[in-house]
Amino acid sequence: MPQMLARNLGRHINATVTILGWLYNKRSSGPIAFLEIRDGSGWTPAVVNKEAVTAEVWRSVEAATQESSVSVTGKVAQHPKREGVYELQVTDFQILQLAHDYPITKKEHGPEFLMDHRHLWLRSRQQWAILRLRDAVTTAVNEYLHQQNFIRLDTPIFTPNACEGTTTLFPVEYFDLGTAYLAQSGQLYLEAAIASVGRCYDFGPVFRAEKSKTKRHLTEFWMMDAEAAFVEHDENLKIQEGLVRHIIRYCLEHCQEELAIRERNLDNLRQADAPFTRYTYKQAIKKLNELGSDIKYGEDLGNDDEGRLTKNSAVPVFIEKWPKEIKPFYMKRDPNNPDVVFNADLIATEGGGEIVGGSQREERVDVLIERMKSEGLNQADYEWYLDTRRFGSVPHSGFGLGLERVVRWIAGAEHIRECIPFPRTIGRLRP
Ligand code: ATP
Ligand code: MG
Repeated sequence: MPQMLARNLGRHINATVTILGWLYNKRSSGPIAFLEIRDGSGWTPAVVNKEAVTAEVWRSVEAATQESSVSVTGKVAQHPKREGVYELQVTDFQILQLAHDYPITKKEHGPEFLMDHRHLWLRSRQQWAILRLRDAVTTAVNEYLHQQNFIRLDTPIFTPNACEGTTTLFPVEYFDLGTAYLAQSGQLYLEAAIASVGRCYDFGPVFRAEKSKTKRHLTEFWMMDAEAAFVEHDENLKIQEGLVRHIIRYCLEHCQEELAIRERNLDNLRQADAPFTRYTYKQAIKKLNELGSDIKYGEDLGNDDEGRLTKNSAVPVFIEKWPKEIKPFYMKRDPNNPDVVFNADLIATEGGGEIVGGSQREERVDVLIERMKSEGLNQADYEWYLDTRRFGSVPHSGFGLGLERVVRWIAGAEHIRECIPFPRTIGRLRP
């Protein structure tokens, strides 16, 4: 029998096909058994009529347990009640491996139990949907950036120094060369590479020893860093907006089943695909104070503030031009107001929080050195980086998009730990 993917059954009505997968659910009613089979591509109902199969097949059906691996053969038919759903009318059923006492049952399990069984929990419908959405977001990012003439160029994970502040570094002993650190971002390397290829991005794991136990922080997460020569602040925001809107459209088009499983509000997603709002940091603080926040000028926005600011917004919101004191040395100051830098954070709708952070970079070597000094950085460590400003420096900008943050938002997931196959947080290293 030809092996078929559950997802494609609708194209083969009346054909007899085989599905290789796992038994997700079983319910019997006298001489009829209703099975639900999943095969990775999706789920399909399968109906076994005792009269229509051999005694041996019926015994196998009776013996099969949740999550046993199985081979199921049957005729494809339109489901009698559910439009657009197809079922198998089973003629043959074999158990490949019988599962004993699968730990995740229909009863409610606490999050710690589920995380301890993450290797099995991944099989559940909700987790399946999130994994597939994650793949779709990745694909959409790659697609859009290539359309915009970026190439992918991956950056090292072992690095000699910090990019995003020294308090969240993971040290690693590195042979005779002393301490290396796991990368927090590939940005500085991309800034060097744009002088070769113009526009480039990396997409890989980054590491931050975040002590914060929030629903939005992992210690290992996947970031897409993009960097482009001859792009200034406004165009930088345009590229980011184009990217995020492309992700929305791609998921709406390719992930209808996944979004339906997540019970995601599609209207909200569709409405987010419109020009984004822009506030300066100063405007944002004023607005937040009006909305009852006690945040002061010069402070970073917390989760609650991000929520307040986007509560009634149908589209994501850029907060741009932050005070230079709370931003890293490489961000370019606004010549019209040197107290602020040309940066922006992008805050998603519906409590999604910050999904992208970016800036125009300072391209003048003397200003950069002065900023490094005032931040107490060791210039010798950055000589290679300063070379990028010594040999044909150009205006340029870039941004970093946190994959799991975007997936959390698009999938409407409560906690970021569900948005990566095997999460690493301050309290979790297993499985
Ligand atoms: P936050 O203020 O939320 O901690 P950040 O300002 O430290 O974020 P950036 O350094 O600008 O973030 O990193 C770029 C992007 O990476 C963020 O916009 C976010 O999408 C993502 N990100 C940052 N830290 C984490 C983390 N610990 N876990 C998951 N994603 C993260
Ligand atoms: Mg952070």
